[in-house]
Amino acid sequence: MTNADTDILIIGAGGAGLAAAAELAHSGRRVLVLEARDRIGGRMWTQHLPDLAAPIEYGAEFVHGRAPTTMAILRRGGRTAIESTDTHFWLHDGERATRNDFFHEVQRAMRGSGALEKQDLSFDAFLERSTALSPEARRYAKMMAEGFDACDTSRASARAIAAEWTADMMNDDAPQSRPQGGYDALLATLAGSLQSERLRLQLQTIVRSVRWSQGCVAVEGTFIGKPFQARAARAIITLPLGVLQQPPDAPGGVHFTPALDEKRSALQGLASGPVIKLMLRFSSAFWEELDGGRYRNAEFFHAPSADFRTFWTQLPVRAPLLVAWVGGPSAARLSSCDVPADIVAHALSALQSMFGKRYPVADALEGSYYHDWQQDPLARGAYSYVTVGGGAARLLLAKPLAGTLFFAGEATDTQGEAATVTGALQSGLRAAREALESF
Ligand SMILES: Cc1cc2nc3c(=O)[nH]c(=O)nc-3n(C[C@H](O)[C@H](O)[C@H](O)COP(=O)(O)OP(=O)(O)OC[C@H]3O[C@@H](n4cnc5c(N)ncnc54)[C@H](O)[C@@H]3O)c2cc1C
Repeated sequence: MTNADTDILIIGAGGAGLAAAAELAHSGRRVLVLEARDRIGGRMWTQHLPDLAAPIEYGAEFVHGRAPTTMAILRRGGRTAIESTDTHFWLHDGERATRNDFFHEVQRAMRGSGALEKQDLSFDAFLERSTALSPEARRYAKMMAEGFDACDTSRASARAIAAEWTADMMNDDAPQSRPQGGYDALLATLAGSLQSERLRLQLQTIVRSVRWSQGCVAVEGTFIGKPFQARAARAIITLPLGVLQQPPDAPGGVHFTPALDEKRSALQGLASGPVIKLMLRFSSAFWEELDGGRYRNAEFFHAPSADFRTFWTQLPVRAPLLVAWVGGPSAARLSSCDVPADIVAHALSALQSMFGKRYPVADALEGSYYHDWQQDPLARGAYSYVTVGGGAARLLLAKPLAGTLFFAGEATDTQGEAATVTGALQSGLRAAREALESF
């Protein structure tokens, strides 16, 4: 099958690809969106269980900060975001651990760091040199970088983390919320805005090669297992960072001809962070009853010394569901477990160590839900982070080539929202405008 009637190809129908497509739907250009999976959304993936009040979010779940682009789409679909309660408990062996205000201590050290102004450092090196920080604050900062930024702190850019942690999104008054009804509500609104005779979305289409020259792009791959080709004057590439970093012959790798030499240093300056997000469904929300209801309004539980260090509830929605989360090198280690049951066992053991022996958590488990984003050949990681010296990498990755290839995806966001859904959406809108202006 050949399609030569297209102006703009969009590769990938995650947040970036769908936002680009929505922006182009009524531009008068003929658009073809090619998506490898049999669903839209990419790293947004929601499942609704009939008897559970909260959705299962295998990927993105929260809206971080004010996120105007995400909020505008939700509002367009008649939805809103439900603010979470942000109550945290640090627990060990059933006892509450005291916790100082480490985050503000770390923020102050970042703001006052002359060393970072002069040169970029790994986050580990930055912590080592921050002698004013207590050892506990350093441990906390490392744990937070691994958990929140999904990074290996020996590789991650301290400058990039400092810029992120001292930005408005991390202020105490910045909201953290969830899309009402789940992220699939946002996807439904985006999909609804694609209705146009000039736009087609084709699922189950795996692009394996992109041959390009100025004003011409030819892609080859498979459509439901059969050979497929398409041609266009422009292409918006929204392949995840981890996919772009794969050798072309690796599973999921994409062969560009000519190769993307101009992107080499950008691809070296970024890394795709591993995350394990495991949803544990229990017969009841047992933690609400423990210790005379002390944890009834808990949203986050932290177990600093366990494999799984963070758990969260679905508050303000009450549901017998806990999300277990780990990012960075510990996630990479755990995701090498061959059997998902091993990962569940690790999470249950962390949970048991938090609540102590009084409640047998494993007996209350009814089900678990998990997707391995690291092994997924269409994702190769959860979200991106900047490595030491990679300060310009996002900008470089976003730069169009020959007025023909345009790049979007969370890793290309340069407005401080990379690694998030908002970053992906913004990048898609930006790439769509660039592609239109290029004609
Ligand atoms: C576990 C987890 C939790 C997260 N939590 C949050 C959160 O709470 N809040 C938040 O804001 N963000 C969160 N994120 C990050 C957020 O999900 C991503 O930043 C965002 O969804 C990325 O969108 P994208 O369009 O850049 O990439 P993707 O969504 O990955 O889209 C790329 C698309 O390209 C497709 N594709 C890949 N290869 C090919 C090919 N060869 N041919 C055709 N199509 C191809 C993929 O199938 C995919 O659909 C989380 C991510 C994960 C994994």
